[in-house]
Amino acid sequence: MAETRIFTGRGGAPGRARGAAFTYRAGAEVDGVTLEALFTAAAARLDAMLAEADDTLAPLLEAQRLMLDDPELRDGAAAGVADGLSPTAAARAAAEALAAVLDAAEHPYFRERAIDVRALGGLLAEAARPLPPAGAVVLAEELSPLDTAELAKAGVCALVTRRGGPTCHAAIIARAWGIPAVVGAPVEALEIPDGAPVLVDGDAGHVTLHPGAEEASVAATAPHLTRRVPVYANIGDVAEVARALRDGAEGIGLLRTEFLFQNRATAPTEDEQAAVYTEIVRAMDGRPVTVRTLDIGADKPVPFLPLEAEANPQLGLRGIRLCLQREELFRTQLRALVRAGVRVMLPMVTTPAEVITARVLLTEEAAALGLPAPPLGVMIEVPMAALAAPELAAVSDFFSLGTNDLLQFLLAADRQHAGVGYLYDDDPPAIWRLLAFVIDTAHAAGLPVGVCGEWGADPAKLPRLLALGLDTLSVAAGAVQRVRGWFGEMT
Ligand code: PEP
Ligand code: MG
Repeated sequence: MAETRIFTGRGGAPGRARGAAFTYRAGAEVDGVTLEALFTAAAARLDAMLAEADDTLAPLLEAQRLMLDDPELRDGAAAGVADGLSPTAAARAAAEALAAVLDAAEHPYFRERAIDVRALGGLLAEAARPLPPAGAVVLAEELSPLDTAELAKAGVCALVTRRGGPTCHAAIIARAWGIPAVVGAPVEALEIPDGAPVLVDGDAGHVTLHPGAEEASVAATAPHLTRRVPVYANIGDVAEVARALRDGAEGIGLLRTEFLFQNRATAPTEDEQAAVYTEIVRAMDGRPVTVRTLDIGADKPVPFLPLEAEANPQLGLRGIRLCLQREELFRTQLRALVRAGVRVMLPMVTTPAEVITARVLLTEEAAALGLPAPPLGVMIEVPMAALAAPELAAVSDFFSLGTNDLLQFLLAADRQHAGVGYLYDDDPPAIWRLLAFVIDTAHAAGLPVGVCGEWGADPAKLPRLLALGLDTLSVAAGAVQRVRGWFGEMT
């Protein structure tokens, strides 16, 4: 019988699952694919997306579909192959060459189309990548949020990545889908041959090759909670609403809007956004819905807004910083949020000035629509924001602790970087002192404080957050049932 081997990484998403290994290499060349096969696969992808698209999205996809038959694109790619490029590289290069021409166009309409062409290049390069069969255990160097969502939809049973920490977005999406994941796995785990039987334990952070019968299940221990607070769900997909409701979510505490539109080549319009937000509000049937404005940048890129490469994207132009520089994009979203009547929350806030500016825009857009301006809250996820809690409380309606980013910046340890993941194991009193300061300050100013970072569903952290006076809790949709279970019959 084959030898059992255990590789230890870090728990990324709880639960245990067993399946056949499947190595997934996003961004790598797809072996043995022809240029024709790439175009055919991309056309099939677009057709599938078109079949599900609504009236607003359909024309945009149709435009991409037409672009796919553009002789310049096809001839450019064929010339690249003739010059010795691989079909994938040639397709990307041909799209880039076309995009560069559009970039230089005088009319803004054509300049904006450059984004679509680049996105089409990306689609072409990835279209022929085979997806794993349902039930597979995916082994990957790293996974983008989009890859993770696609794999989850394909029905894989577990994820193992070498890069990434427990608060990286791949782990967050895996938790949302209820798929066990191990992150920061050693390189040997990625060498497991395709098809080999693997057991993934997302609680212990173990990946077991050839698991034996002795692999007994590990019972998760429930924490002792003393106070009941409402349990809301974090979502990034409309499909998660049904699951959240089924599991008893009492509201939506965080809608990650950048995930809603991450497979879009063009920015979502006001009507498209309003339709999605309204659908969620209707489904939640009077329960509170808090929507975070676009948190694009760093580990959350979106194809419809290509960003310049940055040396330190985590510290760069992202979240509210980016939105305030792209005012039309931001105003469009604010209008849609006002129309849907949701609570609005700003990501990556550093200074009160950002909140004041955002509130001016929100108030102006609400007034123009003749609708009331919704409550405006702030995520506390930048150390400066935590320290500036008194000043921020004076200009905000609520706080939500974004412990994922707050920890990464306090520890100066990239949440995606497995090598510094050990820094997250400690429980330094300094962090608790800071959280106590934020909660006390907010309460003194009459503001409620929630948590929407992953610490909310961490049995070791939740009792302490409640002891500090936390008012609400928002956890991954896939964790709602478990966390509600911890509260038992408490009312
Ligand atoms: C956080 O940083 O804690 C958070 C909830 O936001 P995200 O994980 O989307 O960065
Ligand atoms: Mg964050």
